[in-house]
Formats: sequence, structure tokens, C-alpha cells
Amino acid sequence: MSGPIAYDADAEHPHVLAFQWVRGGAPDEPYHEATGVCPVCGCGMTKRWAYGQSVVRKGGFLGRRREPDAGEPWYTSCTCRTLHLGRPREEESGCGAWLTLAPPGPGQGGGAS
Ligand SMILES: [Zn+2]
Ligand SMILES: [Zn+2]
Repeated sequence: MSGPIAYDADAEHPHVLAFQWVRGGAPDEPYHEATGVCPVCGCGMTKRWAYGQSVVRKGGFLGRRREPDAGEPWYTSCTCRTLHLGRPREEESGCGAWLTLAPPGPGQGGGAS
């Protein structure tokens, strides 16, 4: 690849990505944070979910995640801080790619007692 990566809202990465998970926050208001590298634009990115926050899947699925460690993949758009060419004004970050993340596993913030 050469030159800057342009924003592409249709970019989709089909593989499940293994990001580094961190669990933090107050006991009654925990959050999960995933950090990794967007495979589409190659930038580092971090995405944070508050507990119980709605998870929106591309295609219109809207659900509430009751159990954060249910083993289902998590979905996020790229949230890198790089200014990608052609990014819409309403998007404050990312390259437009839609990513599928492997859920937090044991020892990755999901098994805290
Ligand atoms: Zn990206
Ligand atoms: Zn990027």
C-alpha cells in the first residue's frame, strides 16, 4: 500500500480480531476497553464500552449486551486518531472500517472477581 488511506465507510474486515482487553471503572459501573491495530488503515485504536451499553451491529441489529463475557464477538467501527482523507464531518475518528473483535477472554479483564 502506498499513500494515505482514504476514509471508506464500506470497508469491512471479515476476520475476528484479537484486541487487548482492559476492564476498569467502578465496581457498579465497569467498562471494557479494547486496544489494538485497525487492520484496514493500520492505525492503533482504542474503543471503550460502558457496561450495558448498546452494541450496534452493522445492518441494523440493535441489542443490549447483558453479559459482557458471553463469548460473542463485539463490533466497533475504527476509532483511530488519524485524519483519513474524505472522512465525513460527523465522524470524529476512524477510517470508516467496521471491525469484529473477539470478546474478552479469561485473564483479559473478563474474569475479574
Ligand atoms: Zn482504521
Ligand atoms: Zn486509521
